Amino acid sequence: MSYSAPTETMRHTLEFTAGLGELTRCPPFQDLSADLIDGILEQAGKFAGGVFAPLNRVGDMQGCLLENGIVRSPSGFASAYRELVEAGWNCVSGSPDFGGMGMPYVMQIAIQEMMTAANMAFSLCPMLTQGAIEALTTHGTDQQRALYLPNLISGEWSGTMNLTEPQAGSDVGALRTKAEPQPDGTYRIKGQKIYITWGEHECSSNIIHLVLARLPGAPAGTKGISLFLVPKFLVKEDGTLGPRNDVKCVSIEHKLGIHASPTCTMSFGDSDECVGYLIGEENRGMACMFTMMNNARIAVGLQGVAIGDRAYQQALAYARDRVQSKTLTGADQSARIIEHPDVRRMLLTINDKVEACRALVYGTARAVDSAHHHPDADVRAASQGLADLLTPVAKAHSTDIGVEMTSMAIQVFGGMGYVEETGVAQHLRDSRIAPIYEGTNGIQALDLVGRKLNMDGGKHWKRLFSEMRQFTADLPSSGPLAALEPYLDDGVEALQTAAVNLFGSDEEEILDTAAGATPFLRMFGVIFGGYLLAVEAKAAKALLEKGEGNPSFLEAKLNTAQFYAEQIMPQGTALLGPITRGAATLYAISEEQFAA
Ligand SMILES: Cc1cc2nc3c(=O)[nH]c(=O)nc-3n(C[C@H](O)[C@H](O)[C@H](O)COP(=O)(O)OP(=O)(O)OC[C@H]3O[C@@H](n4cnc5c(N)ncnc54)[C@H](O)[C@@H]3O)c2cc1C
Repeated sequence: MSYSAPTETMRHTLEFTAGLGELTRCPPFQDLSADLIDGILEQAGKFAGGVFAPLNRVGDMQGCLLENGIVRSPSGFASAYRELVEAGWNCVSGSPDFGGMGMPYVMQIAIQEMMTAANMAFSLCPMLTQGAIEALTTHGTDQQRALYLPNLISGEWSGTMNLTEPQAGSDVGALRTKAEPQPDGTYRIKGQKIYITWGEHECSSNIIHLVLARLPGAPAGTKGISLFLVPKFLVKEDGTLGPRNDVKCVSIEHKLGIHASPTCTMSFGDSDECVGYLIGEENRGMACMFTMMNNARIAVGLQGVAIGDRAYQQALAYARDRVQSKTLTGADQSARIIEHPDVRRMLLTINDKVEACRALVYGTARAVDSAHHHPDADVRAASQGLADLLTPVAKAHSTDIGVEMTSMAIQVFGGMGYVEETGVAQHLRDSRIAPIYEGTNGIQALDLVGRKLNMDGGKHWKRLFSEMRQFTADLPSSGPLAALEPYLDDGVEALQTAAVNLFGSDEEEILDTAAGATPFLRMFGVIFGGYLLAVEAKAAKALLEKGEGNPSFLEAKLNTAQFYAEQIMPQGTALLGPITRGAATLYAISEEQFAA
């Protein structure tokens, strides 16, 4: 099951919906030429296809093993991890002050897409390390940054994120892990965390756990949570490794998918003293963790894109090869299934939804870059608002699409999709976690309608929707782009009406707003995705007119926007009813009647 990174389409998205060219005019990225970007994507693609992809099935079949507190990764993983570190792909956006390459975040996202598509379970290890790097870069002290960042950026050490406890899942504020301050300024951590991804393994020489815990007398809920750095091996002042800290993996989960990613129950301070170091201020841990989680949410959204694309590649190859039935229009008894309308519909649906989600995720990552690096303060503020607004949509919509499209890829295979040997079933199993972790998609939808729509008086969505309207109004009145106009017009109108309906709702309307949250997020993802594909189509048309680029690729881009507008966007527009219907029917029956 080979993987070939779709660099041509990634490059188109990076340029025309993620605005990478414009971003490279910002001071920290001015050395990033188009040739360099092409070279990086090509090399990363080769690495993902050549090193990570061949281990995907091995990892799925072997899984991880816990032996006397040591987690054994599947065969080949430790040496592939070493290759990742040596090739420098662990965290390309790491600061050059600490040995990183200082690339834009959106470039890291593009590279991470390839690693994830090649081997989702494996890619989680660098993904969590990248989150830890982000949290430390933003909230760590100078000393903490100097001590931990170089090895985290290179991947010599890996990172984890420890929030969840048995009674504290979506409700993080319910966590009970304790942190006792010590006279020397360190803390003693005591408690248990569950479901910790890559919580224990031997691929990296140290693991830096970021752990949420409560100080004595801290306020209840999320206001009383602090963030701590807990190394597996304590790190001496000169950066060398000291003794083992009392943090250990006590069990690993048996799961539906991502078998090669150890999902660990971690025990802190069980038999001895577990040393932790405060990151940021006491009781401000959620703010620090959100730095890590926001980027992790974008990276999880990316998993939907990556795994959807991997499944698409396999479904397409199968559809071009499998001979079954005759064509409807001819007497050909040996048609390949790609010739049948329904198979074409499935293939276009998978490809186009994945491309729309790629544009959504890359666009969100680019907003993060602009928020950090644009020279104009107003652009930075507007970009931060856009990143905040889009993050729950990127996470939830793309991961839902990942599950739906891997399932559709199985349908293209027919019975062979359901048997494990083709490998496509693994993608569905692997993809299923993404709508659950990093905040379930239900929680993302509540974040979107509860916080993000109302942020700064709603100015971020108002600005975005007005840009979408303007783009639609400026479309030419004839030719292929004109055909997109009615779908975009209807879609943006419905999105605007839904947002106005949900915006600024008061206490009395809270259940109605929450009831509309998930369909609204879906509508947002579908319609905004269609708009982004239209932007890419417009750029493709301009290149075709100038006689630049690959005509076959660019013509397919025009068709992508057309198919999506005709077939997918009306499904988003039609959600206006469910969004605005309120909660009455949800609460019209009693709990007992659910079982009736
Ligand atoms: C494989 C795997 C890896 C993981 N990796 C990590 C990790 O590295 N670090 C870490 O800290 N955690 C990790 N997790 C935990 C994960 O983030 C949680 O499982 C997730 O946040 C959901 O929490 P829960 O399982 O307790 O579900 P619950 O919170 O019990 O939710 C159950 C259902 O109720 C819904 N629900 C809950 N509250 C609300 C509400 N207020 N409104 C509407 N609906 C609601 C949810 O959307 C969901 O559908 C991982 C989990 C798995 C399975």
